[in-house]
Amino acid sequence: MGYRHIEYPEAGTKITVEGGRLRVPDDPILGFVEGDGIGPDITRACLRVWDAAVEQAYGGRRKIHWMEIYMGEKASEKYDGDFFPDEAKEGLKDIIVSIKGPLTTPVGGGFRSLNVALRQDLDLYACVRPVRYYPGVPSPLRAPELVDVVIYRENTEDVYAGIEYRAGSPEARKLEAFLKTEFGAEFFEDSGLGIKPMSAFGSKRLVRKAIRYALDNDRESVTLVHKGNIQKYTEGAFRQWGYEVAREEFAAETVTEADLFGVYGGKRPEGRVVIKDRIADIMFQLMLLRPNEFDVIATTNLNGDYLSDAIAAEVGGVGIAPGANMADHVAVFEATHGTAPKYANLDKVNPGSLLFSGVMMLEYLGWKEAADLITFAFPEVIQKKIVTYDFARLMTGATEVSTSGFADALIDEMRADVDVGARRAEHERAVDEERREREARRVAEPIAEMKASGRTPHTVGDIASPIMSVKSGVAVSEVMHLMRERGISSVVVEPGTDGLWAIMTQRDIISRIVHANRSPARVKVEEIASKPLVTVPTDMSLQECASRMVESSIRRVVVEEHDIPVGIVSDTDVFRIVEEFGWEPVVL
Ligand code: NAP
Repeated sequence: MGYRHIEYPEAGTKITVEGGRLRVPDDPILGFVEGDGIGPDITRACLRVWDAAVEQAYGGRRKIHWMEIYMGEKASEKYDGDFFPDEAKEGLKDIIVSIKGPLTTPVGGGFRSLNVALRQDLDLYACVRPVRYYPGVPSPLRAPELVDVVIYRENTEDVYAGIEYRAGSPEARKLEAFLKTEFGAEFFEDSGLGIKPMSAFGSKRLVRKAIRYALDNDRESVTLVHKGNIQKYTEGAFRQWGYEVAREEFAAETVTEADLFGVYGGKRPEGRVVIKDRIADIMFQLMLLRPNEFDVIATTNLNGDYLSDAIAAEVGGVGIAPGANMADHVAVFEATHGTAPKYANLDKVNPGSLLFSGVMMLEYLGWKEAADLITFAFPEVIQKKIVTYDFARLMTGATEVSTSGFADALIDEMRADVDVGARRAEHERAVDEERREREARRVAEPIAEMKASGRTPHTVGDIASPIMSVKSGVAVSEVMHLMRERGISSVVVEPGTDGLWAIMTQRDIISRIVHANRSPARVKVEEIASKPLVTVPTDMSLQECASRMVESSIRRVVVEEHDIPVGIVSDTDVFRIVEEFGWEPVVL
């Protein structure tokens, strides 16, 4: 491909996509956009760090060949005032993986924001922001190390789609008249109007990407964050489409939170990613109080905008938060802050945001060892209090260094003997242990854990207790001892010769043993157990379940999955849920 100003590096091989996956050679050509304002300072420093990390990790076996792509003011100088030349779009698509510094949005003259233009023109539909804590970074939280999430924010739809009309404009008046006369909509006259489109296509591709990431990176869960309680057909639909993708495309690799509690008694099936959802406003609170409950977050555009900055602030501010905008394969990694023009060319600012965007990029290439080197060296430097001005003013006894000075300190640290393998193993051990502790709590106290983690039970699967099943031919007395030892009031009886499952409760002992004047040692459970079972599917709503119990005059139902009993719900369980969580009348 011939370019006007972009030049291919002298060596290097292009990344390709094969069988839906990136094929990354050992000498890939990657694109970089220097950016405006502080962009050149941080880009220069980061390129040195990334190259040093690759060199150190692979001893020369791997090397990045950089190709400069022009956007912003530098492009404007080269392309006669064009801030986002077609050649830049072509270059970013052609080279597949690139990284960019911040860009100035030219004021006036009807320019779109360059960042918005970039996302739209390349259809970069996922804005990805990992947020984690690095020891030593000043944070307002008491336990910031519990924050480690990756946010997938939908980038193309929602109120950001740009379908908006100024109050009093002919378009707004026309739309107002249409909505009021055709649909009987009610709102104040002469309102500004905005439209919030949200599609199955847009939502599903975003959630699909988030689930793939979770699976590829051994993440525990994907949380769909939405305002579906209020905006049912947009935000609520996002939630529903999210669960649909998981069910239709990742059935064997995922488990819903409902099934986690209802079918698996709180134990996460090996290797499966838990799919759950939370209402957006509660999520802000939960990310402060229980951040370790969350891992990958998939959310709509506006929620994601607020949430990414709020969570980044929890662990040291937006100053070092990295990000990327991604299509199916094309990815543009970027600093998430702006051009901070007052610091331009002073070699002063923190390169952290761009630096960690580069770490994300290395991980995206599958070059984990190089990414780890930076990840593990960074906190070492910060803990020595070698920092740029922004952190220095928040610390006592800090040594303030320039942007390039910070890069030097980081490179020195990477070259010192950092045992990356041991650090990673230690990190993974800590993650495993924390997951096991939470799992143990879920198993022991499912309702309390559900409540603390912000989940409201909706279905019988959410509140069912695991069942205990016994063979049909066992003596009643034997099962009674078992029930007393385990503190349970009923057991499920496995099918006998008639092939039917049955249930035996304490009540059966009273009526069919004591009242009937029989000996529990000489009666088999199948003789007094009730059958057939009244069963309900795991996804039945609590409201429907209550109706079933009332109509059938029974005090417990058995929850089944694929014709096998997996749990039990009693009137005591329903009472407890309504008492603890309250009850909002269901709109039928
Ligand atoms: P900004 O450039 O992010 O700067 C705001 C303040 O944030 C700075 O004054 C500085 O705080 C701090 N800051 C930003 N980057 C930093 C770094 N690397 N290290 C340390 N501190 C840093 O936001 P803005 O002033 O609102 O926007 C300026 C321009 O950037 C605008 O043209 C805007 O359109 C553009 N912008 C571009 C992007 C992008 O390309 N992705 C994103 C946002 C904004 P102190 O003053 O307290 O030191």
